[in-house]
Amino acid sequence: MLQDGRRVRVIERDLNAPNRMAGESLLPGGYLKLIELGLEDCVDEIDAQQLLGYTLYKDGKEAHVSFPLEKFQSHVVGRTFHNGRFVQRLRKKVASLHNVSLEQGTITSLIEENGIVKGVQYKSESGQVLTAYASLTIVCDGCFSNLRRSLCSPKTLMLLPGTETLWLLHPLNTNSKSNQTS
Ligand SMILES: Cc1cc2nc3c(=O)[nH]c(=O)nc-3n(C[C@H](O)[C@H](O)[C@H](O)COP(=O)(O)OP(=O)(O)OC[C@H]3O[C@@H](n4cnc5c(N)ncnc54)[C@H](O)[C@@H]3O)c2cc1C
Repeated sequence: MLQDGRRVRVIERDLNAPNRMAGESLLPGGYLKLIELGLEDCVDEIDAQQLLGYTLYKDGKEAHVSFPLEKFQSHVVGRTFHNGRFVQRLRKKVASLHNVSLEQGTITSLIEENGIVKGVQYKSESGQVLTAYASLTIVCDGCFSNLRRSLCSPKTLMLLPGTETLWLLHPLNTNSKSNQTS
């Protein structure tokens, strides 16, 4: 959207650095996606460590799995980092763009007219109830979203206690959707 010259307004509930363990590993395919989006410098200056593969441990045995990176330049590797530091880098980048405004606020509801989302109602940092209208509203408020519930009833995949961790790996050159709140 930015590359199209559109104005984007991002409303985020808490602009402080998130302090929770989430999104700590970025696979090489994710790094390629950052390059495509012009965001690759967001893994700089956050003490990110290079990730070249994994070691799997089971029943006292181990197996090494390297990422198939032979055809890429040496900087194309995975990264591990503090999610909060990465998120802050992304926010700083967003805030530096002339056609983006980033502000702290909590979206309380979507404004709908004739079944079409026209914008959002939100509470600003100072507690004021405000509205913002846009041609396109993208809701990306995480897995515990309250807003999504008013739009659809997705079938959610739940991991039951005692089951193994589920990893969804992105192949190296697929196109995936980007996420943005406007
Ligand atoms: C323990 C753990 C480990 C993980 N490890 C990895 C990993 O190694 N690699 C990986 O790729 N993924 C990992 N993930 C998954 C990854 O963190 C998530 O897929 C990713 O954070 C989802 O991004 P999101 O933008 O959809 O949601 P979130 O990161 O949850 O962001 C949602 C944002 O919306 C804001 N928000 C919420 N409600 C409102 C509102 N009403 N108004 C305004 N703003 C609002 C929140 O403040 C937040 O900033 C892990 C997750 C967990 C829990």
